[in-house]
Amino acid sequence: MTAQPIDGKAPAALLRGRVAARVATLAFQPGLAVVLVGDDPASAVYVRNKDKAAQAAGLAVQTIRLPANSTQAEILAVVAGLNADPAVDGILVQLPLPPQLDADAVIATLDPAKDVDGLTTQNAGRLASGAAVLSLDAPGGTALAPCTPRGVMVLLASVQPSLSGARVIVIGRSALVGRPVAQMLTAADATVTITHSRTRDLPAECRRADIVVAAVGRPEMVRGDWLAPGAVVIDVGINRLADGRLVGDAAYDECAAVASAITPVPGGVGPMTIACLLENTVAASIARR
Ligand code: NDP
Repeated sequence: MTAQPIDGKAPAALLRGRVAARVATLAFQPGLAVVLVGDDPASAVYVRNKDKAAQAAGLAVQTIRLPANSTQAEILAVVAGLNADPAVDGILVQLPLPPQLDADAVIATLDPAKDVDGLTTQNAGRLASGAAVLSLDAPGGTALAPCTPRGVMVLLASVQPSLSGARVIVIGRSALVGRPVAQMLTAADATVTITHSRTRDLPAECRRADIVVAAVGRPEMVRGDWLAPGAVVIDVGINRLADGRLVGDAAYDECAAVASAITPVPGGVGPMTIACLLENTVAASIARR
């Protein structure tokens, strides 16, 4: 079997277009503020891409750059200012933060109505308790959900319209990806197993799954012989190898020989993350204003 590649670029472009069209109908310009602390090169690239995409969709976007040696009080003051600014609808604090800063404490001060990364306890709690996810299609939703898991759900829908009863393994239990994607999959009626670094015999767990979502951060960890024939693989991982190549958490060629569909890295989940960030910002702006 040679797996169908699950393209993330076209659906991301489609979603960005829908967001831009919605923005054009609004009487106000939704505002996104990105807070970048320090000079981590990968974070700088992500922030530049978010900035470009947000501008192209018609959002007012500002990037607040703070030096790497910023104090907790300084970053909290920036977040408080953005919380209070009526022109700002979405606030994204680019993670990771430098080690002297307490990221959890920063996130805890975000206004949940502007928390477009879905990381506050309020939004995570709403998602965990089964509240509907806020989106352009569901303006009554109350949970702002993390962008990458939302992108995963869109890509899965493109190859498998119904997840009802599907056995899904999520590898990783982070607040940003693993946990929220498991909750969204459960809400979509899949039977979900969350696995992590202490899981016994992960390959055997994976072989039982119809769908494997890998969000680990370990290059090419998921091997072809971990998969049931015809499984679907959603690879969230972005890992840069010593030779400069970007690879996912799944060994693409091996997995593609067994799977029925698989996301490439790059060009799979990554582009969807940014498109979902724009959607979250615009949906949050409509809900708040
Ligand atoms: P974290 O480091 O926060 O979480 C990684 C998870 O993987 C943890 O739950 C950890 O388990 C688990 N894990 C680590 N080693 C193993 C192992 N050997 N076997 C099983 N599980 C393991 O990462 P994130 O969730 O933030 O990100 C995961 C990946 O996704 C990264 O490569 C990141 O770059 C990428 N990413 C991509 C995005 C995109 O837009 N495409 C957006 C966000 C992230 P434990 O909890 O036990 O430590």
